[in-house]
Amino acid sequence: MPCDICSRPTTDLNNIPNLTMRQAILSGFTPFTAGLLPQKLSRLATPDSPAKWKQQAMDGLLAETDWKLCNTCTAKIQKTEFRNQNSDPSEF
Ligand SMILES: [Zn+2]
Repeated sequence: MPCDICSRPTTDLNNIPNLTMRQAILSGFTPFTAGLLPQKLSRLATPDSPAKWKQQAMDGLLAETDWKLCNTCTAKIQKTEFRNQNSDPSEF
C-alpha cells in the first residue's frame, strides 16, 4: 500500500484520523514544506502545487476518510504544531 502523502509503498501504514490531518493542514502542513514528496514529484512541483495539494486534501477524496501514512510522514504530522482547532479555513 502506498502512503497517502509520499506515495512510497510500505506495509507499515498508520491510520491518521481525518480530523488530525485537517488540523495539520490548517496549521500549514503540506508535503512540500515538510519535504515528504519523492524527489521525482518535487521536481515536477510548481509554485501553486502546495495550494493545489491543500485543496485536494481538504475537498477531495482524502477529505472524507482517514489517511494511511508511513512512519516518516506520521512523524512529521505529529510534529506539526496545531493551531487552534477552530482556525478559519479561509486563511489559505
Ligand atoms: Zn509517507
